[in-house]
Amino acid sequence: QAKRRGANQVVHAGGETASPRPATTARESDISDGLHGGEFRLFFQPIVDHERMTVAGCEALVRWEHPSLGLLTPAAFVPLAEETDLIVELDHWVLRGACAAAAGWGSDAYVSVNLSHRTLADTRLPETVRAAVAQSGLRPDRLCLEVVESRSLQDLGGLAARLAAIRHLGVRIALDDFGTGYSSLSWLQSLPVDVIKVDRSFTAALDSPATLALLRGMVALASELSVGVVVEGVETPEQSAAAREAGARFAQGYLHGRPSADAALEVEHEPAVRAPRRS
Ligand code: C2E
Ligand code: MG
Ligand code: MG
Ligand code: MG
Repeated sequence: QAKRRGANQVVHAGGETASPRPATTARESDISDGLHGGEFRLFFQPIVDHERMTVAGCEALVRWEHPSLGLLTPAAFVPLAEETDLIVELDHWVLRGACAAAAGWGSDAYVSVNLSHRTLADTRLPETVRAAVAQSGLRPDRLCLEVVESRSLQDLGGLAARLAAIRHLGVRIALDDFGTGYSSLSWLQSLPVDVIKVDRSFTAALDSPATLALLRGMVALASELSVGVVVEGVETPEQSAAAREAGARFAQGYLHGRPSADAALEVEHEPAVRAPRRS
């Protein structure tokens, strides 16, 4: 009982509560209990294709419906889960759930799943992915795995081999938060990648000519490599217009839809999507 209560509190032997930790933090055992107790949820956020004016896919984003703290976003528990193999279990749960959900969408939209460095380091990952796809009946090319750069991942060659095996299944690979890591270009060089997801810190600064130039450069680079570009964190019609003018075909952000329990499979906010191009 003290255990269940402990998501944001330190409970001493005498049952007294010490000064609470920030209300957004959880303990590892709580995460494990919550996962096994069915408290985790999948949210989905649309990724819009500006060329076809469709929802190309949705990113699966995990949430924790905590019994006392309410709905928690990953910032409250993913960093802690990443300290142990709990994150691997969580990622696998998300992977299976996302494949099952997408198989029922009645649309060709793909589902994109985030994988932590521990999950990526597991040599059994290709088999785990194959099993999740097979079990759900999802067409493999409707699954995309998001890889985020991490300094704690030592063996880039090993990861490249695992990702190649996964891609051989027909599953696609995205480089998440592109441009913010320590070696974005070597990751792009070393890994078999289908899509880069330009980090939202660039999107937030698209009113700066230098940032706009960087985005154009990333689009040109991606085009040379036959890699798709998703611009993350698009919040305003101006950012949407700038991203499209820079040549980025796909966008994701609050403008087009917030993460929600039901995948939105049609383009919303059409006026924004159709904002006139500057001539
Ligand atoms: P991410 O993969 O880069 O996901 C995008 C994050 O940006 C999401 O936050 C999303 O809600 C948020 N976002 C989307 N559009 C906008 C926008 O227009 N403006 C702003 N300010 N934010 C926007 P969320 O859901 O809190 O997830 C945060 C991070 O947690 C994700 O970043 C991802 O790295 C991680 N994460 C989420 N789900 C999983 C999971 O199942 N496994 C693992 N390992 N990590 C996950
Ligand atoms: Mg992501
Ligand atoms: Mg991202
Ligand atoms: Mg991120």
